[in-house]
Amino acid sequence: MCYYKFSEYLKQKFGTRVHKVSVDAGFSCPNKDGKISARGCIFCDNRGFSFNTRLPSRPLEAQIEEGIKAGRRRFKAERFIVYFQAYTNTYAPLPVLKTKYDLIKKYPEVVGISIATRPDCVDDSVLDLASSYAGRYEVWMEYGLQSIHKETLNFINRGHYYDDFLETVELTRKKGNIKICAHLIVGLPYRWGERETNEMIMETAKEMGRLRLDGIKIHPLHVIKGTELEAIFLKGGYQPMELEEYVDLAAEFLEYLSPNTVIQRISADCPKEWLVAPLWISDKHRVLRRIEERVTEKRSSETGLGFPRGFAAE
Ligand code: SF4
Repeated sequence: MCYYKFSEYLKQKFGTRVHKVSVDAGFSCPNKDGKISARGCIFCDNRGFSFNTRLPSRPLEAQIEEGIKAGRRRFKAERFIVYFQAYTNTYAPLPVLKTKYDLIKKYPEVVGISIATRPDCVDDSVLDLASSYAGRYEVWMEYGLQSIHKETLNFINRGHYYDDFLETVELTRKKGNIKICAHLIVGLPYRWGERETNEMIMETAKEMGRLRLDGIKIHPLHVIKGTELEAIFLKGGYQPMELEEYVDLAAEFLEYLSPNTVIQRISADCPKEWLVAPLWISDKHRVLRRIEERVTEKRSSETGLGFPRGFAAE
């Protein structure tokens, strides 16, 4: 096993192919609507991240049904996890959240729910609601962190800090039946003209290893049209990574994680018409192949054991 892939985890757990159906449930984000800021994170345009946000708005049921149909046809999947992906999927009053999440109960082939949100938009009542699905469903909370570094989080206008993430992880763990996935970005700027150093990125990786989260998503920072990051990039304030730089950093990042942490994503998806740079992002298969080759090379040349750093003795 090169690294612990989500598809493998799901196959082991459910004994069949499970497909994640992404939906845009019509939520907003406090970092865009003015509650925290009106700017949003400098890289954010959800049309560049989320398939459903690029389509004309459709009822949630229609999105789930189309996703199930597509998953059956394209991936021969038999079971499904509904992934509340776009924007901040806990940013609404509790009854609204419940009505939207409850829709999964209409579909017997759905075995899980995954809720992406900001760590500062979760409280005990939201987690109680998420936890209430756990008897029958696999429940994941996905927290956008991106980096542990304050300077970086300030520069990208994230609107929260690592402490918020730590508090939310602790609160979530108390429920005892919710899996936690962190979203991280490699290649972030921490000031004008400066990308996070390798040391900064590995400090984030070490923290994720220390926390032994259930899952991680990593993606390379890419510049999407119309974002603040595009304006910074065009003025020379941001230099995107080369493919091989990302491959090295991603492979090293994985070494710090617990072998039980599932890697839910390690590349990016962005339609060509929205992508400004770097263009290698579009060739996802090449990115994944190069990371796997790099991980295999490192494991055979450096340790020969195939264990991630810090976990060899487990
Ligand atoms: S928190 Fe998410 S949705 Fe909100 S601005 Fe940042 S990336 Fe966009």
